[in-house]
Amino acid sequence: MKFNTKVIHAGIEPDPSSGAIMTPIYQTSTYVQEGPGQHKGYEYARTGNPTRRVLEQNLAALENGHDGICFGSGLAAMDAILKLLKAGDEVVASNDLYGGSYRLLRRIFEPFGLASRFVPMHDLRALEAALTPATRLIWIETPTNPLLQIVDIRAVCDLARSKGIMTCVDNTFASPYLQTPLDLGADLVMHSATKYLGGHSDLVLGAVVARHSELSERLHFVQNASGAVPGPMDCFLVLRGIKTLHLRVQRACDNARAVVQFLRDHPKVGRVLHPGLSDHPQHEVAARQMRDFGGMVSFDLKDDRPDQAWKVLSGTRLFSLAESLGGVESLIGHPASMTHASIPREERIANGLTDSLIRLSVGVEDAGDLLEDLDQALARV
Ligand SMILES: *Cc1c(COP(=O)(O)O)cnc(C)c1O
Repeated sequence: MKFNTKVIHAGIEPDPSSGAIMTPIYQTSTYVQEGPGQHKGYEYARTGNPTRRVLEQNLAALENGHDGICFGSGLAAMDAILKLLKAGDEVVASNDLYGGSYRLLRRIFEPFGLASRFVPMHDLRALEAALTPATRLIWIETPTNPLLQIVDIRAVCDLARSKGIMTCVDNTFASPYLQTPLDLGADLVMHSATKYLGGHSDLVLGAVVARHSELSERLHFVQNASGAVPGPMDCFLVLRGIKTLHLRVQRACDNARAVVQFLRDHPKVGRVLHPGLSDHPQHEVAARQMRDFGGMVSFDLKDDRPDQAWKVLSGTRLFSLAESLGGVESLIGHPASMTHASIPREERIANGLTDSLIRLSVGVEDAGDLLEDLDQALARV
């Protein structure tokens, strides 16, 4: 089955009790048994739920993995993965990491004795230098947020495998339509389904897909033992969102291309960051491992004073000022004062995250309308 068919059919059968073509929302906490221990595969809804199960099988097919395991949020999914490790182990992660992932490693797991190191992951030598005999997991995020750097998944996974280290790719920004990390050698792929998979800004959910049964069984054990499971309604909404994943992400990529072109030609715009640009430092890697370059675009202004960026941020009418990404509607954000406000200013600027940097999650609206909106907002600068 090709990807565009899998989003609609993989793991999905008409409901056996009614023939309903859409997966029902099994809103139940328990299941009646015919006799003690005699049941239809479901005993208690933390352990298993048919709506969740269909979503897990569909995600496994989209990521070309052995099985999917769903959680109440993207961070709950990461939390479950980190529980595969123990005190004394080490994690190496990208230094341009989703803020919540950084916080989970530093503030929750470090006090339990799980140490983390953060490196520029696109620099293989820096990565190799950070590995120790205690390193058990390399956590890859690509494209990164908000600088849209690209990590060479195959190169990192080859290095990890040669040292017996497990790899996980946070595939939230790309979605499986653009990139399937398990095919490039990763052991695990993780998603905030809150973003592109759900796609309509109406739920919070997380997922992991494992390449092999050994890891998926251990993750199902953590899912049941720690209990951070999603509700059936949210699983249904993600299944429904996934049915148009290929259409939405392709349109977002096409719209982003038009936005990038427009920003590049605009006299008030400074840098434009997008992996589709031929002068992006990792453009070749992106072209190799991604089907297209994604709907996220970052740019800054030639006049780098924050008040100039605020004029743009408060001036757009179609791009809404909000955190999150990957929905059908276009969003605009200011990392320096929103998602990355906790990073000291000097450190932030040294990393390329300037005061006027603006991040766009380009939606699926009409491209001409989006360009017109940016044009009138930039005219205020
Ligand atoms: C949003 C996000 C997360 C966290 O997911 P939640 O569903 O909000 O818990 C993790 N990684 C990335 C890249 C994200 O964008």
